[in-house]
Amino acid sequence: MADRGSTGRHPIVFQAPPSPTSPPVPIGKRYGWRAALELLQKVPLGELMRRAHAARMARFPADQVSYVLDTNPNYTNICETGCTFCAFCRTSGHPQAYTLTPAELARRVRRAERAGATTVLLQGGHNPALGLQDWLAYIRAIREACPTMHIHPFSPSEYVFMAQREKMSVAAILRRIYDQGIRTIPGGGAEILVEGVRNRIAPRKASVAQWLATTQTAHQIGFQTTATLMYGHLETDADIITHLMELRRLQDRTGGFSSFIPWSFKPGGSVLGREVALAAHPAKYVRVIATARLVLDNFPHIQSSWFSETPSAGELGLLAGADDFGGILMEEHVLKQAGHTPSVTLEHVTAMIRRAGFTPVQRNSHYVLLGQSQR
Ligand code: SF4
Repeated sequence: MADRGSTGRHPIVFQAPPSPTSPPVPIGKRYGWRAALELLQKVPLGELMRRAHAARMARFPADQVSYVLDTNPNYTNICETGCTFCAFCRTSGHPQAYTLTPAELARRVRRAERAGATTVLLQGGHNPALGLQDWLAYIRAIREACPTMHIHPFSPSEYVFMAQREKMSVAAILRRIYDQGIRTIPGGGAEILVEGVRNRIAPRKASVAQWLATTQTAHQIGFQTTATLMYGHLETDADIITHLMELRRLQDRTGGFSSFIPWSFKPGGSVLGREVALAAHPAKYVRVIATARLVLDNFPHIQSSWFSETPSAGELGLLAGADDFGGILMEEHVLKQAGHTPSVTLEHVTAMIRRAGFTPVQRNSHYVLLGQSQR
């Protein structure tokens, strides 16, 4: 059974708003594994938020929170990997199975661009019918339709799958993508970087070692990547800390991570949902964000997402160390299939950022700020 962690054992205490005078992380000291677990499980929520907010303000003194206008048109839902937490994938031949043609993908990206999108996140199932040439065709089609669109394609587990399919090394596949001018890739598919738990929720997906090795290779080639965490399933709090420590160690070696993006398992429509029927409490999300800000002292950005949790949990995350509010997704299918369909407008997002006490600023996928939002 999943350890629901501190939200089940500690009262949810929303104390006074974070104060910039809260004690920052001691200079030159890092949270070790045990101290990090104490943060996640035991430090009262208000105190945890204050410490994380102080660390965030020490790194980014401006009271700005960034967001990106993006779209995630999931190019295929056909997948042969069958992760038990996934409500998105379909087998080939299923009536709801689909694979976009490059032209259709480009049409959707063009439509999002007209609505203001600057970035397209490309992620899809592990579809054995698609090869490297299909991936390159997707990139070329988007380039032709939208020359200035930032393309943020394929997560580490997709690279591992493609390398196996093409009988090439992961490095060779990554270099082919880099040669297309791609410079950032998403850090999806990390789920939980603890082999025992991973084997239970995603036994056929890239292993912990493969996810870390693929990401390290991507950083060495020159890609900037994000890092994700999915919690709220079969993991314990200790597993979450081990996950953070794996990411911190890799970042020490490469410096290639731009941001950390946690999200909770959504049980709707998945096999795992029969075992773990309840989604994690939003207070856990805030604790994970705050713990990550303090433990991942070598990560510049921590994302609190209005989308992956709820708008209000995302807003609270901005007071717990997060400096980024993620994407205003114009198209997304993965969480929609799990019955998670929060919908907000740009006006809503910027209002939430302001209500949390910050100035909203649009960014690109390199986390370069594009100017203050007028909305
Ligand atoms: S999470 Fe990704 S790899 Fe796993 S079944 Fe779903 S689409 Fe396939």
